[in-house]
Formats: sequence, C-alpha cells, structure tokens
Amino acid sequence: MKRKLAAVAVLSATALLTGVIQVSTAAQAAPTPSLQAQAAQQHATALKLAAGQAGPLAKALKLGDKEQLVAKDAAVDKDGTRHLRFERTYAGLPVIGGDLVVHQKADGSVKAVDKAVAARIALSNLTPKIAADQAAAQVTGTVKATVGVAADADESPLTEVRPAGQAELVVWASDGNPRLAYRTTVEGARADGTPSRQILVTDAADGRVLATHETIETASGTGNGIFVGQVPLTTTQSGSQYQLRDASRGGQSTSDLNNGTDGTGSLFANTSDSFGDGTVNSRESAAVDAQFGAATTWDFYKTTFGRSGIRNDGVGALSRVHYGSNYVNAFWDDSCFCMSYGDGSNNTAPLTEIDVAGHEMSHGVTAATANLNYAGESGGLNEATSDIMGTMVEWYANLPSNPPNYWIGELINLNGNGTPLRYMDQPSKDGGSADYWDANVGNLDVHYSSGVANHFFYLLSEGSGAKTINGFSYNSPTYDNSTLAGIGRDKAAQIWYRALTTYFTSTTDYAGARAGTLSAAADLYGSSSAEYNAVAASWTAVNVN
Ligand SMILES: [Zn+2]
Repeated sequence: MKRKLAAVAVLSATALLTGVIQVSTAAQAAPTPSLQAQAAQQHATALKLAAGQAGPLAKALKLGDKEQLVAKDAAVDKDGTRHLRFERTYAGLPVIGGDLVVHQKADGSVKAVDKAVAARIALSNLTPKIAADQAAAQVTGTVKATVGVAADADESPLTEVRPAGQAELVVWASDGNPRLAYRTTVEGARADGTPSRQILVTDAADGRVLATHETIETASGTGNGIFVGQVPLTTTQSGSQYQLRDASRGGQSTSDLNNGTDGTGSLFANTSDSFGDGTVNSRESAAVDAQFGAATTWDFYKTTFGRSGIRNDGVGALSRVHYGSNYVNAFWDDSCFCMSYGDGSNNTAPLTEIDVAGHEMSHGVTAATANLNYAGESGGLNEATSDIMGTMVEWYANLPSNPPNYWIGELINLNGNGTPLRYMDQPSKDGGSADYWDANVGNLDVHYSSGVANHFFYLLSEGSGAKTINGFSYNSPTYDNSTLAGIGRDKAAQIWYRALTTYFTSTTDYAGARAGTLSAAADLYGSSSAEYNAVAASWTAVNVN
C-alpha cells in the first residue's frame, strides 16, 4: 500500500505565522445607478412592450388560432426602431423553430418580420404514438450507444450517461415540416472531465432522432487577473453562462470556496465571457490567475515533456480560490486532486502568482510519479521539484506583468517587504534554506532542505558567479569554489523531469538524486556528454557527492 505522506503540500513553512494584525477596510461605493443598471431597466421596458404586443401581432401575422407568441427578447434603437423577438407555442406546446423577430418603427407599424421557418403549422393529431417515458428510455439508449466514441475534434468521448428525465412533447418545425416530437435532455460526463448536457429531439411517431445538441461548449474568454494581467481563457458555454472550465485541458476548472475550507466550492460563471477586473475587488480576478496558471502549467508539461495533465491521464485538476480567511498559503491536496489558494493578509493579497500555480500542480506530478516522501531529504527534493517546475512554468508563461526569474513567489509579498519567498541562486538569502548539503539537511523543514536541489538546478542552468538574467541580478556561490557554466534551463529541466519520473522513488535522498539525474543525463545526452559532466559538477558544487 502506498503511504500518503505528501497528501497535502503547502507552499511555505513560515507564511502561516504572518498576518496577526487585522485592519478592516469598510470603504463602500455610493449607490449610484450604473450604466449596466440603466441598460437592464431599458431592456425590461422593451420586453414588457413586446409581451403586450404578442396577441395583436399574432393576429397581424395571421397565425393560426392554436398559435401564440411568447416574448423572449427586445431591443430598441436610438431612433425608436424596435426589434421584438418571440418564441411560439402551438396548442400550448413549444414550437422548436417557431421563433421570429418583428421589426417595428417607433410608431409601432411593422417594417419587417424574420421567421426561423416559413411553414404553416397545422397538425391534425396531437396524440403521440410513443408514450413520453418510452421516448425518454429510447433516448437514453441512443446516447449510451455513443459512449467511448469521439463526436468531433474538440469534444472528448462520453464516459458516463445518466438516464434522461422526462421527455417533453413539442412541435418540431426547424426542418420546415412541422410535426409532433419529444425534447429530451440527457446528462453525463466526458473522458476529460467536462460535463455533458445533450438535448435530443425525437419524432413522436417513430422515435427517429431529429436533432442533437450539446449545450456545453468550449468558448474563448478573456480574463483580467491580479498577477497575470489580461489573458485569454478557454471557457465553457453552458446555456447563457460562461464557466471557468477548460474542456481543451482536461476540463480543469476554478471555483470560489467563499472563504470556506472544504468542498468543491462554486464554479465561477457569468453571462459575459470576461472574468475579473485585475484587482482584488472582483472575486474573479484571483480565479483568472488560478485558471490561467493551471492552463499554462498544463501547456508547459504537455509541450515540454509530452505529459497530459498532472497524472498523465488527460484529466484536469480543480483550483479553489478564496480558501479560508486571512489564509497566507497555498497547497496541493492529492485526495481532492485540487489546489487551493488563500487570500493572504486581510483577505486582500491572494497567493495566485503563476509560479505558485506551477509549484502546487507539480506536487501532483510528484505524487503521481516518484511520490517523494514529504519529510527528510526526500521531502526537500519534493519541495525542490515544485520550485523547479514552478519556475519553469513562469519562464514558459513569460508574462510582461511577471517577468520570469529564479525566485519563488516574488510578487505575492509573503514577507511583507517585497522580497521573494525563496531564491534558487543562493537559497540561504531567505534566512532559512540550505545552500549546500550537510548531514543535518534532512532535519530541516522541507521548504529549507529544498535549497540544496534548487541551488543545484540554478547552477546547472546558469552556472556560478555574478550575472544578470532577464533583468534580474544573481550571484551564485559554489561549495568547492568551482566556476561553472550552465547548460541552460531547458536541458536542466529535461534532466530533472526524467530523473523524477524514471529514477526517483519515495525514499530518494540527495545522494540518490545525484545518481538519478546522472542516469537521466546519460539517457538524454550520453554518459560522456557535456550535460552529464555539468550535472556531476553542479552536484559537487552543492556538496552532494
Ligand atoms: Zn510546496
């Protein structure tokens, strides 16, 4: 049996100790009606107008006496021109394809009518041949037969189908040949974790499928995050709502824990496909950071290592934001396959920086591979793996709002003085981390014993000594006073990832990490390669021999 020592891996050892003084911020905006409220008022008025005209318009359009118009939407132009949108019923049954738009001048006279279907509806018999429950059972069977079959390129196959609820009797008119039909909704799930809600229309006489429509669709939204700036987001359209769920990346989603500490929270959704305003005033802003961080981490692993998701099974993880109250930390939890972000001091400083997202998701990768025990030297290697991959995610994202570097959490200001949480070039700069291995390193907190491997990774990537990289200054020392030239972070990451997924085990210690990364370098570049020699020299430079 696998021991789950690393089930919950937090970002920082000391972060929880901060944030003692609470300051309440009570500034409230004055209740002046916004432009949005005015627009809503105008729309309500126009809709009322359309509802009032439904009867007279049905007559004017010479609809049959079984037909009624139901106002659905209305818009009024600046010059008073009205566009009134209606659905239709026939003998009280909804007509699919019965919708129409009436365009009126400001004085109410009809200018034009756009009908979805021109055909007249005249049904002689309103009794279906197939009973409603029989129709629902048939539809369930039809959908179940498609389990495992990919419908199209951006829809992953159905894995689960729940029996349909009631089949609703309707008139099907969309094909210009009006007849009695059933409309049935069937729910389920797809292989990538995306929910499915299909609406099927079947002929009430012979059960034939007339139309199928998946109501949950992928959309291209925009987010304004606190740390990421303005970014594109792949969202999910469900009815009139857009959700922070990314079907193109394993259905990974972001939810609002509403300052609670358990459960899956409520999925972020709104009617526009735009989320957040870039500040903590919008609860969506931290969610944008989290969702974009998860997407970037997904892409980084896929592009760099060919890995499909944290467990390499194509399934995306849940990100939960607004975890707890004044919670100054973030953590990965294997049991919920989710990561959680606190809102920081006074609930105004969410910990949603992208290297933190990459850090947390990489704990999931470690759990799914080497499963390094979260204590002793293996715990330090577990933490370092997250810092290394989190940093690589930051380089991969290369955001103007967050220029990449070899520091961890430099934007979330956990120390309160603008300094990073951790430094890879010289870990001891944080006041607690080890630059070099010694026999006591395994007794340190895992966030400090990680320093040896972080330092190794920096030296392997960039080499030793003073240098400026992407505008940031570093000065990385070596235990043996050697001068090292780096092989570049991309190669260093390949070596680390291969060691993690191929050689490391739950009990790997620093000596084992040296052996594992040397094996990985030999596999990738050859045992007499410059890369292999650089791995050896970099470990020696952090006193791992
Ligand atoms: Zn961690």
